[in-house]
Amino acid sequence: MRNPERRGQAPAGDELTQISNAVGALGADPDNAVSTLLSHASVLLGTREVGLFRVGLTGSASLIAGTISGDLAGFASRTRSSTRPLLAQTADAVAGAGATGARAVLATPVRLRHRPVGALVAVARTGTFESRHVSSVVVLADLAALVLQMATAATVENLVTAGESLGTVLENKQLLEALLDGACRVLGGNGGFVCLLEEDTHKLHTALFRLLPRDQVEATLANPSFAALLHEIAPRVDAPAPHSPFAPLEGACQGIVTIPLRAEGRPVGLVCAALPEDSQPDATSLRLAAVLGQHAATAVRLLWTQSATATREAELKAIVASFPDPIVVATLAGECVLINPAAEMLFGISNDFERGRAVIGRLPGGLDEMLLTGDHGPRDVTLGTPTPEHFVASVSKVTTKDAREIGRVLVLHNKSKEEQAERAHADFVAVIGHELRTPLTLIKGFVKTLIRRARDMPTESVLEALQTIDDQSQNLEHLIEDLLFLSQSDRAESRLYCEWSDMVAFVRDFATAASARLGQRSTPREVLFRAHTMEIPLHFDRTKVEQVLSHLLDNALKYSQDKVLIEVQRHPDHAEVTVTDFGIGIYSGDLDAIFERFTQVNSTSTREHGGTGVGLYICRRLVEAHGGRIWVESTLGRGSTFHFTIPLDLAVDGTPPGGANPLGEAAAGLRP
Ligand code: ADP
Repeated sequence: MRNPERRGQAPAGDELTQISNAVGALGADPDNAVSTLLSHASVLLGTREVGLFRVGLTGSASLIAGTISGDLAGFASRTRSSTRPLLAQTADAVAGAGATGARAVLATPVRLRHRPVGALVAVARTGTFESRHVSSVVVLADLAALVLQMATAATVENLVTAGESLGTVLENKQLLEALLDGACRVLGGNGGFVCLLEEDTHKLHTALFRLLPRDQVEATLANPSFAALLHEIAPRVDAPAPHSPFAPLEGACQGIVTIPLRAEGRPVGLVCAALPEDSQPDATSLRLAAVLGQHAATAVRLLWTQSATATREAELKAIVASFPDPIVVATLAGECVLINPAAEMLFGISNDFERGRAVIGRLPGGLDEMLLTGDHGPRDVTLGTPTPEHFVASVSKVTTKDAREIGRVLVLHNKSKEEQAERAHADFVAVIGHELRTPLTLIKGFVKTLIRRARDMPTESVLEALQTIDDQSQNLEHLIEDLLFLSQSDRAESRLYCEWSDMVAFVRDFATAASARLGQRSTPREVLFRAHTMEIPLHFDRTKVEQVLSHLLDNALKYSQDKVLIEVQRHPDHAEVTVTDFGIGIYSGDLDAIFERFTQVNSTSTREHGGTGVGLYICRRLVEAHGGRIWVESTLGRGSTFHFTIPLDLAVDGTPPGGANPLGEAAAGLRP
């Protein structure tokens, strides 16, 4: 580079050609082209202070390259309405141009196809600019227009980069970040915000904001004139002036470019890029921003559709997953689409692993062929190890709205469970028949004996017969109560009738009465009572809790020969009652099952004891209705302890804490 002090010599024609060639050759590197141009300008004009300003549509100018001391943007922008260079060479004019202390300032308009796009500005600290400088700088200005055009092309590159990054992001937040980045890059902005229109409520919400105070952004969204921007077709530039839609952003930025986002003709949101003090986008940048907006709107719509589809897919998966029957969904070509957990268990395969793979050879019993051929079935199959179960397999079509078949779904309906339930019902009916007949036969027998021979019988035998009749009637009553409970609880009609009582006294009275009754039997049984506390005032249904206690005591007596121990104790938030026997005990694997309906474990050995297999189920329902818990600890051959709890803070209306009363409403009791 030659010495700038050569100022005063007019540029030779070949020198300009050289400059022009040098700048032109740098087309692929606009930044370098600008600095080359400015170096030459510096030499030609004999000053180091030269700068290239971009002049925007709205009139403001911003320095894009060069070294200039002082604020010359205003002077540069004045070239918009001039076709000739502006020269300030009096002290006042120089100061008015913003270069106080300099000797002269020259601002040359840079025009592209007659449109002002920039200004080439030079400041002389010594001497002044002469007419030959002015004529040579006009030529340089044409080159500057070329350079600015190349810089705009670089903005197109920015747009392409922004567009590309929009295309690769799959997540909402990322997409919006890329969008705001792109807008700032194209427009020379720094920060801003993106707001989107909610699909359901049609309300605008801030989806992202950067470098602007949140409250000011929110206030802008709430500004009534802001929503009107949604209906703009092209990007627009606003200053945050008092009556503009951006009034709340006053002081936070100098200008805002709004890019409307529209998809399928409908507004979906706005990108608002905040402009720094010295920046003003030109028409080309705004056009590019519009293109970016179109891409972005499509991307936003796509993302919404994608997330709606993903939500629907997840819902569908959850529905299929919650199905108790095994289900396999496949494409027409037989590729696996979905396997629900029940099918994963049954076939020992995993949905994640099989997805997209061929089902052929993966499903046993010809089920893969059913899926492949679309054979609807139904077909009976026996599957599963170690306990094979019966299923009815059927295949249905998966079709689109216009009835086009796109896949098939295989459903295996488990018949074993139904068969088991049917068997359990049938067994139950048989057991009930047996249980009803036994006490009836005994009652009938004793009544007949008494009718025929009561007068001749010793009083003791008569009383014994009457006692048996009484016991058996009680058995019948219990049985009928159980049956009634079962039918009522199925229809949730039973109620709790709670009242305040002392649980210790209640259990003691029960144990004492049972002990007295059983002590008089021909084979007397001992019932012991132990309280670990003086009293536990509780709100509970006495009849229902007595039903639980009676049943636990009956079982304890039934499955043991020795004494039975009933205890009651207080815990911080509940009372616990236990019934312990020293009898046959229960196999650990059966401990949970015995609280289920119609469960008699090891039926052959317990059959001799009678029973219907519903007693403990009823106990569980009654205890749970109080908000309590029932469980058993047992050792085979040594005996069992049944525990149940009743919470201390059972609400006055009978509703157990943290849940509805499963037996239905409850009558209010009186507090003691
Ligand atoms: P059931 O009316 O047939 O006795 P339950 O529901 O009361 O029906 O009991 C279910 C099963 O639990 C019984 O068949 C028996 O096998 C077992 N069981 C209940 N209580 C005891 C106990 N105290 N000792 C041993 N086994 C018991």
